[in-house]
Amino acid sequence: MRPPVIEELSSLVGREYVMDKLEDRICYSCDATFRSGVPEVVVRPGSVEEIMGIVRLASRRGIPITPRGASTGLSGGAVPIKGGICLDLTRLNRILEIDVVNRVATVEPGVITDDLASAVSRAGLFYPPDPSSSKVCTIGGNIAECAGGPRGVKYGVTRDYVLGLEVVLPSGDLVQVGNPVDGEMSGPDWTMLLVGSEGTLGIVTRIFLRLVDKPATKKTLLAVFETLEDAATSVSTLIASGTIPTTLEIMDNLTIRAVEDYLKVGLPVAAEAILLIEVDGAPSAVEKHCDHVIAVCKRCNASDIQVAETEDQADKLWRARRAISPACGRINPTKISEDATVPRSQLPAMVRRIKEIATKYDLKMVVFGHAGDGNLHPNILTNKHNLEEMQRVERAIEELFRCTLELGGTLSGEHGIGYMKAPFLEWETGRDGFALARQVKDSVDPKGLLNPGKMFSAISQQIT
Ligand SMILES: Cc1cc2nc3c(=O)[nH]c(=O)nc-3n(C[C@H](O)[C@H](O)[C@H](O)COP(=O)(O)OP(=O)(O)OC[C@H]3O[C@@H](n4cnc5c(N)ncnc54)[C@H](O)[C@@H]3O)c2cc1C
Repeated sequence: MRPPVIEELSSLVGREYVMDKLEDRICYSCDATFRSGVPEVVVRPGSVEEIMGIVRLASRRGIPITPRGASTGLSGGAVPIKGGICLDLTRLNRILEIDVVNRVATVEPGVITDDLASAVSRAGLFYPPDPSSSKVCTIGGNIAECAGGPRGVKYGVTRDYVLGLEVVLPSGDLVQVGNPVDGEMSGPDWTMLLVGSEGTLGIVTRIFLRLVDKPATKKTLLAVFETLEDAATSVSTLIASGTIPTTLEIMDNLTIRAVEDYLKVGLPVAAEAILLIEVDGAPSAVEKHCDHVIAVCKRCNASDIQVAETEDQADKLWRARRAISPACGRINPTKISEDATVPRSQLPAMVRRIKEIATKYDLKMVVFGHAGDGNLHPNILTNKHNLEEMQRVERAIEELFRCTLELGGTLSGEHGIGYMKAPFLEWETGRDGFALARQVKDSVDPKGLLNPGKMFSAISQQIT
């Protein structure tokens, strides 16, 4: 980055918050995906005014900006693939207000999701979205990706809790959309346009979130199956029967073994699949739902069902769920996490197709995910330096996307599009839908400087 730009950035935020040494820039070149892009400079603003100043400077000088939270993204949204400025938002990390009467939390984007959930819980309320990365990821990143999590099956995803946003536009202007009272705003719902826009339309600087009642009690169950399809069938049967558990997580055999090897918590390593199920609510309702869940799982051939009797036992099971990523990361150095989401009635077909694809391309693939939402995470465990295998990986991913769409699903349940899935987005939106998205992007960001190369600003892959 040229010295005058560094000087101008330093005058805006202070020299200590502008990093232009290669070793610092490399630290900001990647996220939880496997490709990287080194920014020319990293800037760490501490206020909305500073962000406005940086964006105006970038607009004037034609410099790309990549917003960044905790960089746990699984589609590459925070990777500065076009260089330019990496805008680290983690200094804006204040919980500004938890309004218990109106049940609204006002936060800055760099607040860590678990920190908010704990503060809300201490105030006697509940913020349900719980991405498995919640100990490190930020609310800004959650908004930008519309993050989900295990509780999504009952409580919905981040979008369902966003009442309003304050956003710095690519011009450097500041707008507020929605409102902290009921989220309503005259005209189109701009808030929902920005949620899930992956930092391509604006930089979120303040967030108003809806809070709900804490559930009175909850229970965790582990159901063991001899086939992955039986586990998937239990999920669709359970949902069709009208019982909506709080969570319905699935893990296949390879995942179970990887986690057990890593954590030693006593998971059933011989099982082909397990379901981790939580039910919450009033005590009498929880008992009733638990009995129903057990009956359905038995009907779908569960070979064993364990109910956690203590908080410790339940915690152990949830620790196992959260350990999937690090555990699988030990099997092979490159972990490519997909996010295929299909209608829940298609879950048994989808798990069958995933296994067929793994066999066809001779790849090590684990399957886990938020099955209650139809959101599966087939993860390919590979090595990016094995070029021959990487070619098979690419073909397998294309086939996975094709099959997800054939089954009526979406390419991204919660991880977003980023650079990873951008070439395939048009397969889902269709040509006209893609053109509309491009028009929206072009009118909000006519210079194309905000998070370029991501989502609808990438070149589409030919549909074959
Ligand atoms: C182990 C593991 C488990 C995970 N589990 C889940 C899960 O259960 N559910 C789920 O949904 N995701 C999950 N993820 C993915 C990831 O944690 C989420 O996408 C999360 O929302 C990203 O937050 P972040 O702060 O790390 O954002 P980053 O990765 O830094 O950025 C993500 C995107 O948001 C944009 N962005 C960040 N902050 C802002 C802002 N203030 N304004 C505008 N744009 C911004 C970036 O440009 C980028 O496009 C998991 C990831 C890992 C590594």
